Amino acid sequence: MHQLKQKKLNNTILVDVIIVGAGPAGSTCAITLKNSGLKVTLLDKDTFPRDKICGDAVSSVTKRVLRQIAPELETRLLDFAPKTNITQAKLYSPNFKSLSFSFSKTGHCIRRKDFDHWLFEIAQQNANNKIIQNCKVKEVNTTNDFAEVTLADGTIIRGKVLVGCDGAHSIVAKKLAQFKIDRKHYSGAVRQYYSNVKGLEGNALEVYFLKGYLPGYFWIFPLSNNEANVGFGMLSQTIAENKIDLKASLHDIINMIPEVHNRFKDATALEDVKGFGLPLGSRKYAISGHRYMLCGDAASLIDPFSGEGIETAMESGKFAAEQILKSMAQNDFSANTLKAYDERVYKKMWGNFKNHYYLQRLLGNRVRLINTLIKIGNIPWVNKQITKLFY
Ligand SMILES: Cc1cc2nc3c(=O)[nH]c(=O)nc-3n(C[C@H](O)[C@H](O)[C@H](O)COP(=O)(O)OP(=O)(O)OC[C@H]3O[C@@H](n4cnc5c(N)ncnc54)[C@H](O)[C@@H]3O)c2cc1C
Repeated sequence: MHQLKQKKLNNTILVDVIIVGAGPAGSTCAITLKNSGLKVTLLDKDTFPRDKICGDAVSSVTKRVLRQIAPELETRLLDFAPKTNITQAKLYSPNFKSLSFSFSKTGHCIRRKDFDHWLFEIAQQNANNKIIQNCKVKEVNTTNDFAEVTLADGTIIRGKVLVGCDGAHSIVAKKLAQFKIDRKHYSGAVRQYYSNVKGLEGNALEVYFLKGYLPGYFWIFPLSNNEANVGFGMLSQTIAENKIDLKASLHDIINMIPEVHNRFKDATALEDVKGFGLPLGSRKYAISGHRYMLCGDAASLIDPFSGEGIETAMESGKFAAEQILKSMAQNDFSANTLKAYDERVYKKMWGNFKNHYYLQRLLGNRVRLINTLIKIGNIPWVNKQITKLFY
């Protein structure tokens, strides 16, 4: 018995804050805690640079979040290459009429392998942060006095609070918040990188609502070096009910729809099609509890219409860090106190999520409605309102 206890202690690393997952949510949380003097452990099952299946559209909100943490971070992102500057979105209706609207602030397309590595390296530069890569968290536990995780190699890390930033398949959300996939509030999407797509508009996100592939959308997002992020996503409920194979759908869209195929005649696929899940923010969840908080995809904070989740991951990571600073001062990590984090997240994000969820439900697979909306969206006043709805 004594030996067992001793072995456990030898294997245990003691810290203040445990962050599981070093994507945009986890790295932003660690960066925000930079000058706190707290011992922070940032864990990831992968080794950076690592890929993340995504559309690679990094909205302007991410720059605002970086600026709020430290103004020089925004400048560093602007200096960071390679990236494209995105100033507009171009939506195509099922009858291939288009609607362009301009963003009030410039966003970017950056390969996630590069963007996440850039952010992770900033988190790594903090001497108080202990970074452990290539370590999968296998077990998660909270007691009255601490939170702890067990890694695949048996190491135990124990802290005052745990932040679950471990993405769509979060073990922290599953074990501590009992999250389960709800297909009405979850999407699936696939991505494939291409080079040499014809007529690529370097500054526009292209989104296609295609007959036979609704509700959902096909995208072409421009990257540097004449490459593009190409993909297709749908609500999981529709995928399950209609037994849709997303990889086959992407192949069919590119090869069977003449308007799309024209663009891909001389294009080269740079990888096999890859897919991943998107937990949508169209339903409110309890995203904290005794000694833990969830951020980003682990907290289901993806925009239900656009599928964007990088900005909300970063902002929630920042909010969680700020809540930790408050809770540390009072040494209070009770569920009741951490609820303030949920309230702050939803106060900031729920308005958008709700409106965009209604839009997702309204459009559904209504081909004629989408055709009409895209037509009237070209009227200048309506165009202005659409722009406001997004940025
Ligand atoms: C196909 C697709 C297209 C998308 N397009 C866009 C887009 O264009 N723009 C946009 O803003 N959003 C997009 N999203 C959403 C976006 O990818 C996510 O919202 C964003 O990555 C969330 O960041 P995160 O930090 O919460 O999670 P992640 O980026 O998933 O990071 C989680 C991290 O946790 C680590 N991890 C997981 N489990 C464990 C474990 N047990 N132990 C240790 N580490 C673990 C992972 O290795 C990973 O590094 C898209 C998503 C998909 C699937």
